[in-house]
Amino acid sequence: MNPHDASNPVQPATAKPRFSVGLTGGIGSGKSTVADMFAERGAAVIDTDVIARQLTNPGGIAIEAIRARFGDAFIDASGAMDRELMRARVFSDPTAKQQLEAILHPLIRAETANAGERAAGSYLIFAVPLLVESGNWKQRVGRILVVDCDEQVQLQRVMQRSALTEPQVRAIMATQATRQQRLQAADDVIVNDGELAALLPQVERLHALYEAFGRSL
Ligand code: ADP
Repeated sequence: MNPHDASNPVQPATAKPRFSVGLTGGIGSGKSTVADMFAERGAAVIDTDVIARQLTNPGGIAIEAIRARFGDAFIDASGAMDRELMRARVFSDPTAKQQLEAILHPLIRAETANAGERAAGSYLIFAVPLLVESGNWKQRVGRILVVDCDEQVQLQRVMQRSALTEPQVRAIMATQATRQQRLQAADDVIVNDGELAALLPQVERLHALYEAFGRSL
């Protein structure tokens, strides 16, 4: 069989399918905390927020498209996107928001897939804050894992770690899926309402499950 024939269903050895999990949760639910715990156990964690940020850092691959669309004013002296200015712009102008997303989303998607192919690890975890709200993640991952917590706990955690006020955090939460919507999308749930120690057995159980799924592919 010709390996270059597009109709050939056999993937090259480097593109072996990997078992993957989409990890999500509302702001302050504990996604990053949980992602770190899986990474410590050998999962390859790919954070789409980190990827999105890299695209708009100095020399990032989205910079020239942003400059062409929005003008030099939106690129700061270091060569990065001026995040404050862009935040203000897209907040007040839905068309600008769509234009920015049209630049960033395909790049995030491609870079995320590349990172997944390059990553070592027994399986992949894609950490995606807006997994339920965006795109077709359900078709792209084997399982969806939701970190769930009470909204009051979420509020308190975010206020503790940042300078945001309660109305500001509530405004962010209002742009995200509801707790119910996330739970409906979940194959697996980690409850993070209490002590950090309570996460351990939940992470251990799911890590064993995901390793088993990874081996069975
Ligand atoms: P997310 O990535 O979902 O926004 P983080 O993992 O960053 O959430 O957690 C938000 C904040 O709450 C962090 O400062 C984290 O250390 C803290 N945190 C997370 N889970 C717990 C917990 N069970 N007990 C106490 N603090 C926690």
